[in-house]
Amino acid sequence: MSARDLLRFVPGTPVTEAGCDAHPGVSDKRAAAADVEALVEPSRDLQERLFAEGKHGSPRRVVVVLQGMDTSGKGGASESIGRLVAPAGLRVTSFGKPTDEERAHDFLWRIERALPAPGNVAVFDRSHYEDVLVVRVHDLVPRDEWESRYDRINAWEAELAAQGTTLLKVFLHLSYDEQRERLLARLDDPAKHWKVNPADLTERGHWAEYREAYQAALERCSTDVAPWYVVPADRKWYRDWAVAHLLHETLSELDPQWPARPDLDLAGMRDALREG
Ligand code: AMP
Ligand code: MG
Repeated sequence: MSARDLLRFVPGTPVTEAGCDAHPGVSDKRAAAADVEALVEPSRDLQERLFAEGKHGSPRRVVVVLQGMDTSGKGGASESIGRLVAPAGLRVTSFGKPTDEERAHDFLWRIERALPAPGNVAVFDRSHYEDVLVVRVHDLVPRDEWESRYDRINAWEAELAAQGTTLLKVFLHLSYDEQRERLLARLDDPAKHWKVNPADLTERGHWAEYREAYQAALERCSTDVAPWYVVPADRKWYRDWAVAHLLHETLSELDPQWPARPDLDLAGMRDALREG
């Protein structure tokens, strides 16, 4: 069974804490590392083909959307994608609290601007979904407005898909207990103090509301053209395994081809090179 079949969100399924340390599709850490290693070469080959296509007229591109609570491993997941994709074809964008300029525009404005060039892969560390997550939990805009965003997101994503953008939407599903351990570990490690944000504890206090908001986003924005995948994220090795497989399967399905170059006079160029 593919990782996409294993992890695809099925509407109507409650996203409970029970599954956060599951590891469907692979038995243990060692096997997971070997699997991921075996995906590096084939993924890079597929991505290079996609990149080449993009340089020769294809509009196709891939956007990986990473969402999850603080410490769920969005940074770690983008690093593991970085192993599978050459840096020249990869663009990682983190979306934090909107700036004044961003706030003056529609919520999709800053997302549009971060879309990758044709042939490229983008990773979004947070995304337009924050506008129905943190914004919903804290009523940062009136309810009517955030309510209307689910449909707007679906329409926007459908348009992107129709124009050749493949969206891979990943919810890194972390448990409340594992988040405590990770936040504590941050406090104990000077190399992680730069990530410490006292506000994370406030957000943790809204855990149940976030869970509801995630459930709503998954329910309302899992579409055929842009489904959500739920990745159990309590085990870092499983998270990396899942993200690598989801990306590799996505690239394989696109099946990018080396562009044909009928415009080139190969024989003439060969002769010119040999003569000179
Ligand atoms: P971090 O990912 O740790 O750098 O934190 C980024 C913070 O920005 C998180 O607390 C997000 O909830 C917040 N954030 C991201 N997008 C938005 C948004 N559209 N509105 C308000 N806060 C946001
Ligand atoms: Mg943070």
